[in-house]
Amino acid sequence: MGASTNDHDWDVVIVGAGPVGGHTANLLAKRGQRVLLLEEHNEIGRPFQCAGLVTPNAMRQVGLYETILEEVDGALIHGPSGTLVPVGTGGTVRTYVVCRKLFDEAVVKQAMVSGATLWLNSKPKDAVRHDNGVTITLVKDGQEINLTTKLLIGCDGAHSWTRRYFKMGRPKELMIGFQTEVVGYQNRERWLEMYSGSEIAPGFFAWVIPSGNESCRIGLWSTADRLDGRSIEECYSNLLKHPLWKDRFAGIKETARYCGPVPSGMVKQAYKDRVLLIGDSAGMAKPTTGGGIGPGFEQINGIVDRLSLAIDDNNLSENSLKNIAKTHFEKMRKEQSRARSLRNLLVSDCEDEELDRHFDQFAKPEVIELINEIGDIEKPVPLGLALLKKVPAFRKLALRAGVKMIFS
Ligand SMILES: Cc1cc2nc3c(=O)[nH]c(=O)nc-3n(C[C@H](O)[C@H](O)[C@H](O)COP(=O)(O)OP(=O)(O)OC[C@H]3O[C@@H](n4cnc5c(N)ncnc54)[C@H](O)[C@@H]3O)c2cc1C
Repeated sequence: MGASTNDHDWDVVIVGAGPVGGHTANLLAKRGQRVLLLEEHNEIGRPFQCAGLVTPNAMRQVGLYETILEEVDGALIHGPSGTLVPVGTGGTVRTYVVCRKLFDEAVVKQAMVSGATLWLNSKPKDAVRHDNGVTITLVKDGQEINLTTKLLIGCDGAHSWTRRYFKMGRPKELMIGFQTEVVGYQNRERWLEMYSGSEIAPGFFAWVIPSGNESCRIGLWSTADRLDGRSIEECYSNLLKHPLWKDRFAGIKETARYCGPVPSGMVKQAYKDRVLLIGDSAGMAKPTTGGGIGPGFEQINGIVDRLSLAIDDNNLSENSLKNIAKTHFEKMRKEQSRARSLRNLLVSDCEDEELDRHFDQFAKPEVIELINEIGDIEKPVPLGLALLKKVPAFRKLALRAGVKMIFS
């Protein structure tokens, strides 16, 4: 542990005990850092705003298989006019569906077992950085407390206090997600479904995800500009009464509904003197799926060893954090923006007619084969590039968009 341990109350204070804050706390506590985790709510994992998909890779990092509600082998993807593209192979797990409450609680518990301290009902009010550390004023159970730390990490989600307080920019896109929990939907076992079209999820898609015990999560996401004055609930009801699919939704009974933001597009600078942003606070959700748990884990995993050494040395200036994080973060940012460009080209910037034409291509057996071979929820860029290179109808599209932007 660092030589200057006793000069500070904590080595690291993490704001936000979501999955990314919990995992960050665990990794740092395991490396001997004295970690304080602050959570503004009086319990972990509430409010719940997530479809609960966790990729096998993200799951391997935390090993919380007991929180899985369902295993999913693939997706049945529907074009605006009903063209069906099945992606996946029966019997090969592509992703898990977890109970987010149990998952978040278990991730935070791992951090506590590793030695981190959790304070519920606690949120920062003020933070002053100086040469040697950060002095934080926080409110815990209504009482003001002052404490010092070497490093402050914001894992406080889409509307991050840390990001706003230290003026660290904004994620490039903020999608709006809406979801209900229902019973009575007849889904194909181990498969999720995706629906597209400008009336349902303009520029994006709607989903039906099995969530165990005969229930499903029905949701959709889009951006405010694409919704163009419509509410997201209106799009949801368009899905339920869509002429092609209304029969499937006829027998559903809603048990819960919620709405939440999906920030995607890493902020320009996720580090400043003694402050770091990880997870949704930094805009890490994937532009193609909205998944934020895996990317948040990847963001901290890539820097944690060097970060811990820098904490030991209390060498946490902006320059030092830049040395540690820049290469890894820039690689992730670049991957995100290429995925966004490809998404816009193939899906988001298309009118329904064009999207239908793309679905006609996606549905060809040789293209489905390509998707199944190269398709990876975590790394969509190689697939997008392969589609542009190998499917003649998409080659023109790549030229139109400017190949440089995508292949750079
Ligand atoms: C409808 C919908 C569906 C989604 N589906 C998926 C999915 O299937 N798979 C997936 O990977 N991702 C999904 N996401 C995204 C996912 O929910 C987030 O990317 C993920 O939760 C990010 O984790 P995080 O720890 O960075 O932030 P969060 O989970 O937002 O956690 C932040 C924590 O910080 C706390 N906090 C906030 N401010 C303060 C403060 N000032 N002081 C103290 N505590 C604070 C919050 O209470 C919260 O506990 C979905 C999002 C939506 C809206």
